[in-house]
Amino acid sequence: MRAFESTQIFFDAAAEHLNIEPSLREALLMPSREVQVQVTIERDDGSLANYVGFRVQHDNSRGPMKGGLRYHPQVDLDEVRALASLMTWKTAVVNLPYGGAKGGIGVNPSKMSKREIERLTRAFVDQIHDIVGPDTDIPAPDMGTDHQVMAWFRNQWEKYHGFNPAVITGKPVEEYGARGREEATGRGVGSLTVKLAKRLGVKPAAAKTAIQGFGNVGTHAAKFLYESEFPIIAVSDLTGTYYDPNGLNISEVLRHKLNHPKGLLEGYQHCECLPVDALMSLQDVNILIPAALGGVITAENVDDIHASIIIEAANGPIDPEADAVLQEKGVTILPDILANAGGVTVSYFEWVQNRQHYRWTLDRVRQELDHTMNEAFENVWQTAQQNNVSLRIAAYMIGITRVRRAAELAGLTS
Ligand code: NAD
Repeated sequence: MRAFESTQIFFDAAAEHLNIEPSLREALLMPSREVQVQVTIERDDGSLANYVGFRVQHDNSRGPMKGGLRYHPQVDLDEVRALASLMTWKTAVVNLPYGGAKGGIGVNPSKMSKREIERLTRAFVDQIHDIVGPDTDIPAPDMGTDHQVMAWFRNQWEKYHGFNPAVITGKPVEEYGARGREEATGRGVGSLTVKLAKRLGVKPAAAKTAIQGFGNVGTHAAKFLYESEFPIIAVSDLTGTYYDPNGLNISEVLRHKLNHPKGLLEGYQHCECLPVDALMSLQDVNILIPAALGGVITAENVDDIHASIIIEAANGPIDPEADAVLQEKGVTILPDILANAGGVTVSYFEWVQNRQHYRWTLDRVRQELDHTMNEAFENVWQTAQQNNVSLRIAAYMIGITRVRRAAELAGLTS
């Protein structure tokens, strides 16, 4: 199933509960603007390379649009459109004064040099600088992009528009970035996992956890849960699944990744090494955390899943068919638009600090993040109980209600 179709199915299920008429549904779901650009760069060997870049601005009823920038070979308009609409509901669920957007380039950055990635980023900014800005649309890192890419993006944008670091978030800390931004998504995932387990009566020692993907989000979620005494029995990256039924020593695993020339788990010895896909079907897993790609749990593999709790750290990891099967089986799913909202929350704090020319301490960032995530969790939990719906539908109901209210107050047709 295509990514946008998936988000549309979840949106429709929530809109049904809210009795929203079809024309308004269409207005809320349709992206406000979709831009596709040619990005041509000179490779290090002097040859030319052409790529396609996208920026989809979904909705700005609640404020400037906000959303990541992804460099990945699978990036296409459908995926960016789906991710942009997820951002609209996500910023609304955690009640940030933002709308939703997303961008990306269909490219494999692992096959490029650092200089080529810099040229790619600058060429992309040349094409879209007029439609992004601190009051209109504020990009951030996503898969395949990091604080260095954000720094190049800002520098190129400022050549056209002058000094304004609030044009992009996820910047290096010494270049107007926020303390705590890098860990924010994983920390939010970890803290809500602890909260949900407690709410469901699962004791930390019984919460055997497996995490798919050991990048930015996966590592910080693992660290938080390890420190909360949850046994992490498996983690995976592109090189395989690393499994210890008694719980991995996450400090040691993190050290290994740090010392690996490409930041991979490859070669980690103190556990069993299984194929990449084995993580999903491990029998002794109670909490499963997909933290890599979208669309990894589908009708084809859903029956192999044994976990009773799934935390969607990645965007769109479960497609609607698999979601229905898991609901039927009584699996509790913490949806992406709530679970991974810690990143955009601290991006918001970064934007606020940039606009005030003031820096917060790490303690303050963490405190405000925990407060925002807790409040959103309680809201979603109560909405689910009151309406007898899943946490996903409850989160969409809250997001859609807030966006609808803002759109109606502003005047839908003006
Ligand atoms: P990343 O590029 O830092 O890490 C991705 C990890 O997934 C890597 O370890 C990679 O090896 C691994 N991986 C890729 N394919 C895999 C596979 N088939 N099986 C197992 N592992 C695989 O990316 P990230 O920033 O950690 O983002 C991960 C997910 O979280 C994405 O879906 C992203 O959209 C979502 N997300 C990220 C943020 C953020 O702040 N970084 C915020 C919200 C949502």
